[in-house]
Amino acid sequence: MDSIAQNPRSNDPVEEGIAAYLDEIIALRHDLHQYPELAFQELRTSKLVASRLSSWGYEVATGIAGTGIVATLRRGEGRRIGIRADMDGLPIEEASDLVYASSNPGVMHACGHDGHTAILLAAARYLAESGNFSGTLRLIFQPAEEIGAGARKMISEGLFERFPVDAVFGLHNWPGVPAGQFGFVAGPAMASVDQAIIRIIGKGGHGAEPHRAVDPVLASASFITALQSVVSRNVDPQEMAVATVGSIHAGSASNVIPESVELKLTMRAFSENVRQQLQERIPALARAQAESFGAEADVNYRLGFPALVNHPKETAFARDVAYDALGLAAIEKDFRPRTASEDFAFMLQANPGSYFFVGNGDSAPLHSAHYDFNDAIIAPAARYWVRLAETFLTDDNG
Ligand code: ZN
Repeated sequence: MDSIAQNPRSNDPVEEGIAAYLDEIIALRHDLHQYPELAFQELRTSKLVASRLSSWGYEVATGIAGTGIVATLRRGEGRRIGIRADMDGLPIEEASDLVYASSNPGVMHACGHDGHTAILLAAARYLAESGNFSGTLRLIFQPAEEIGAGARKMISEGLFERFPVDAVFGLHNWPGVPAGQFGFVAGPAMASVDQAIIRIIGKGGHGAEPHRAVDPVLASASFITALQSVVSRNVDPQEMAVATVGSIHAGSASNVIPESVELKLTMRAFSENVRQQLQERIPALARAQAESFGAEADVNYRLGFPALVNHPKETAFARDVAYDALGLAAIEKDFRPRTASEDFAFMLQANPGSYFFVGNGDSAPLHSAHYDFNDAIIAPAARYWVRLAETFLTDDNG
């Protein structure tokens, strides 16, 4: 476990308060890790989270998008803040030898959502027992982040009409960034994600008689090479775009020209303009490349979700709170946007707010079978949520 820079403040009541039950929260995190659940199947997790929140006096609404929860705590007049944690695991067979390794075969908390849930519960307890604020606190526990569906579904089921907020915040742990270091990005912080399934259709035949066939493998190879010209020749060099062919399947014998090739692509961008450019250019290129070889391209371009764009004012506020609560040394300088994706993007389209990163230390990467969330970041991140809520719910200038 990585060590965390000491908080410059001594006798911090929030730090002391959370420390009193930190062991319990870590045990809960291990329990969540041991029983991970896939997107929209977070029944056990949801039940556990709801029962803790109720026991601390929250008004708990369950069953939003199936397993989603909103817990509300009101104290006097004032603004309303939303803080969101995600709860789902991934379809990965855990390869760790942890004592609390997954007991659910083929399912794993490989993205640290067990940790995000534990962090928010640690903060929830402190805020209920000792929180100093005036206004409305709403804690959102979201299902199905990994398939990019949970946030959208909660919103479509009236999340922000039933539980309005003035701003919404979320966090993700980040391997490779020192444990407990916070990273803030104003503007686009994570990329949009879209997918394409492209079938290049030729005419199958004998591998020794290519002149009687239309070879879709050759046409695919040409398309794959040409694909990168979209990034290097069409997209403004000052902008970011990614087009990756992650899967290619065709044929099964060395001496048979297959009928077709199937390619699966993922596309990422920070701006809607670039996203649209990829959506136009990639199908056009696939069709033209295929046609030039006498083949055809059938393109199924599926829009996923938009780039996550942090609101500047709320991001500056969130950074200021980190500076106050944890000190300058805990803030990463010039934290760069990430090209991964996150469906909190939808919550930031519906409300002002900010999404930030907390270093997970030198761990295996997210979505690796060897990954584990770093328990050492629970305390500082929970302390941060408390301070963020208390500051937002006392400071009218935001
Ligand atoms: Zn995640």
